[in-house]
Amino acid sequence: MNKMFRIQYTIWFIFSLFLVCGEKPDANPPKTNLYLGIPKTDYLTGKFNAEKVFAKVTLDDSTREHYLRPEVKTALLKMITDFEDQKPQNYKQNIFLVSSFRNFSHQKGIWESKYTGKKAMRVPIKDKTPNEIVSLILEFSSAPGTSRHHWGTDFDINALENSYFEEGGKGKILYDWMKIHAKKYGFCQPYNSLAQRGNKGYQEEKWHWSYAPISNQLTKAWTDSFLKSEITLTGTFLGAEILADGALDYVTSISSECALANTPSL
Ligand SMILES: [Zn+2]
Repeated sequence: MNKMFRIQYTIWFIFSLFLVCGEKPDANPPKTNLYLGIPKTDYLTGKFNAEKVFAKVTLDDSTREHYLRPEVKTALLKMITDFEDQKPQNYKQNIFLVSSFRNFSHQKGIWESKYTGKKAMRVPIKDKTPNEIVSLILEFSSAPGTSRHHWGTDFDINALENSYFEEGGKGKILYDWMKIHAKKYGFCQPYNSLAQRGNKGYQEEKWHWSYAPISNQLTKAWTDSFLKSEITLTGTFLGAEILADGALDYVTSISSECALANTPSL
């Protein structure tokens, strides 16, 4: 009996020692600080001051100030440097920003200038119904509160026209390099060809790139908040009632390649 007790005690002692000295798994690993201290729906809909939470990005070619999340800025600068190192010697183009963070009111300005006809679109809005006008705007522009440009993860590069990045365009070499290498840095082109997205959402935008490790989380968060009516668009801009629940398709119809860029390898 005594011997039995000693054995049991020894086993208990060794086990206790293991508990004390062994590496304890962290029950709560640190999460990405997704909203940077801003209330969730304000962040998701671009209602905050970017200068307080984002990093200023200054590139040689910038004609105006750009703000992105700090981790996005780091990845972008690394990608730009590597492209400069790897591009053909005689190739003059480099990667630069045309647009980056845009807040709710900036996006509302873009949307309403098109809705009221102040800014021209593919076809004139004269004689068009409000439904037709909203469809025309949505070919290339997001409604305020639904834009990926609110998140500090997305930006437009070089030229807002696909032809710049295609055969015969100045940006063809740059775009071909991005298609191969951007995912290493965490970037994807969310609006690839419409056919690859079941003909849903915005037209293809070869200039728009997104930092997937964070924007994938924000896409999910936006969708969840919209479905729970934490995000409501009604009454916040002209034509919001027409867009209504259609906003969901535009936010969620993105390239499946964004899931692959979720884990940068650099
Ligand atoms: Zn864009």
